[in-house]
Amino acid sequence: MFLNKTRLLILYLTVNLPLIMVTTASVQPSNDHKIKHKNSTKEISSLIVVDVQNCFINGNLALIDSSAKQDGADVVPIINHLLQTVSFDVIIYTHDWHPTDHISFYQNLNKRRQYLLGDQNKNYSLFDTVTYKGPLVQTEQVLWPLHCIQDTNGAKLHKDLIVESKSNVFHVRKGLNSDVDSYSAFWDNNKQQKTDLDSILRRWNVTHVYVTGLATDYCVAATALDAIDLSYTTYLVEDACRGVSLETIDKKKQEMKQRGITFVQSSQVKALVDGAICNRIYLILMSFSIAVSFLLK
Ligand SMILES: [Zn+2]
Repeated sequence: MFLNKTRLLILYLTVNLPLIMVTTASVQPSNDHKIKHKNSTKEISSLIVVDVQNCFINGNLALIDSSAKQDGADVVPIINHLLQTVSFDVIIYTHDWHPTDHISFYQNLNKRRQYLLGDQNKNYSLFDTVTYKGPLVQTEQVLWPLHCIQDTNGAKLHKDLIVESKSNVFHVRKGLNSDVDSYSAFWDNNKQQKTDLDSILRRWNVTHVYVTGLATDYCVAATALDAIDLSYTTYLVEDACRGVSLETIDKKKQEMKQRGITFVQSSQVKALVDGAICNRIYLILMSFSIAVSFLLK
């Protein structure tokens, strides 16, 4: 009789061990960078905190001074609450991180006039859009004020934002190349060069990303759109973002919705993320309880 139970248990474990291994191994980083998360049935979630830096909150490019009059500081307590209450598998902070001669700065326009498409003597103002023919690649560029210059106070994350040093917390810098801007945290604006973000998310087998931060109509939208292009299930946490102009916020939100990005409020995120974790734990407990019931029969 005991032998029969042992056989049954071995048979049961043989059948269910792959399931147990899949559910327990899901949040470990993988060395196999070629893993295709698209085929995975498990949900691994990442919070992406886009550019919650001083420049966009109380610096040269403070959102409160732009036409939408939205306050970038408003996202800090909302993101902190997510960080404190939701069990994300991976947390990403992105940083706009420019050299002083960066193409995005209005102040550098005169040094780059020879690359302007069209009338090279034309007067431009802050926030105008120009097209540079080079020197790296032809690119459309909004002329922003100086912002997020590397190693300056303006480039630091806001002092009240919770930033922990843990093995699943990563910082991704963008906009380092003088000759091409980078709104998305995945790619530069001309998709010439990738940042580390995609490889970090793939290493951790991330399937679902929750995008928050500044600014909705530029770096947040560009990051979310690239995330869905790269096959991550993508959520925009709407109340955890602030933007520059109501017109472009609306336009970009329409584009994000059309491209399949799901809009959620921060109050919904815990149920979405922890619900997935609960499912994993439930499967593990169910497997073990059935195994124990075989032993006790
Ligand atoms: Zn920038």
